[in-house]
Amino acid sequence: MENNYKKETICIQSGWKPVNGQPRVLPIIQSTTFKYDTSEQMGRLFDLEESGYFYTRLQNPTNDFVAQKICELEGGAAAMLTSSGQAANYYAVFNICEAGDHVVLSSTVYGGTFNLLTVTMKKMGIQCTVVDPDAPEEEIAKAFQENTKCVLAETIANPALVVLDIEKFARLAHSHQVPLIVDNTFATPINCNPFLWGADIVTHSTTKYMDGHAMCVGGAIVDSGNFDWESCPEKFPGLTTPDDSYHGITYTKKFGKAAYITKATAQLMRDLGSIQAPQNAFLLNIGLETLPLRMERHCANALAVAEYLESHDKVAWVNYPGLKSSRYYELAKKYMPKGTCGVISFGLKGGRKAAEKMMDHLKLAAIVTHVADARTCVLHPASHTHRQMTDEQLVEAGVAPDLIRFSVGLEHMDDIIADLEQALREV
Ligand code: PLP
Repeated sequence: MENNYKKETICIQSGWKPVNGQPRVLPIIQSTTFKYDTSEQMGRLFDLEESGYFYTRLQNPTNDFVAQKICELEGGAAAMLTSSGQAANYYAVFNICEAGDHVVLSSTVYGGTFNLLTVTMKKMGIQCTVVDPDAPEEEIAKAFQENTKCVLAETIANPALVVLDIEKFARLAHSHQVPLIVDNTFATPINCNPFLWGADIVTHSTTKYMDGHAMCVGGAIVDSGNFDWESCPEKFPGLTTPDDSYHGITYTKKFGKAAYITKATAQLMRDLGSIQAPQNAFLLNIGLETLPLRMERHCANALAVAEYLESHDKVAWVNYPGLKSSRYYELAKKYMPKGTCGVISFGLKGGRKAAEKMMDHLKLAAIVTHVADARTCVLHPASHTHRQMTDEQLVEAGVAPDLIRFSVGLEHMDDIIADLEQALREV
């Protein structure tokens, strides 16, 4: 934002900035199409010679105002919204990869992302090598190949809560002339800005904290504008050579720091159409307005719950990067000094059976396939979100069979703890 405003101010004031007589609140442009006076002008839009809206499968103003806010929060150069977090990660990778290419993937990414890369994109001819994010740099370096086009990892992995050493991953990616893509869903730009540590592209499942109220599935991609695609043009021909489907324009030459997002919009949205509904973007924008307040409370509540669980004699282990006992405490302090997220994982001494029994007795915390919203919720990944994974893949992903994922909401922390207390008594 031109005034160098703080994130709290960006969350409220950025994106839609009405001028004299315009609505105070972001309008929902509920229109599939846009009218032009001359056929020539419409033609120029199709040639990307002029910017303007023509069809909501590619772009919509409501979405773009919200994307602009997220872009400013991340400190990026350009951004776009997608219909889901899955679409965001898919587009982020597919925008620079094609059949015959290769991706280096952190083993602890969300199960849906893992599946996207190792199953679906594999069928499209894009291979990936899965690496342990905690492995030494020399070990991870072995995963890179001639045809590697990017590295993908999460700031705080869902649900293993592994904190990424972003600088280490950025060094590895850049020494192999490829960008680092970081899924920043759990930390949110309030707690971490991966671009400050060398990441090149950030993705989000806006379905989580950004929306914050479990109303809309959505995603976002933000480009820092820092990766120099032209420095290795043969690796990224889609960006650095003429696009025949747009009369021979070259994205890097015509759009500079906006090249990557423009290509993703002009090609991938045009052909695949995973756009976020303007209604959903409107609701996301409301969520963003209170994101800093909510993240502060999520983190405070989660720390209190984690400390309570750590002192409980039926609890075998607790993993929360904000706990001093966490192996990620130092990394979390470095990359997320204000706090990490509201998600905790823990296991009970009675193992998987005890976990199921305890979950069934929770009254306030609900069993739902969701995480990171205002209402406290709980899930057993090995039986739910990650059930498609083999035991071996579960171990690699940092998901123990007894792992309970507990997403601490915005209720009073005493009530959340009391709910756990009564459920643990039943085990
Ligand atoms: N990335 C992370 C870290 C997630 O936790 C999720 C969903 O849980 C996704 C991506 C996928 O997002 P969505 O469910 O919005 O498609």
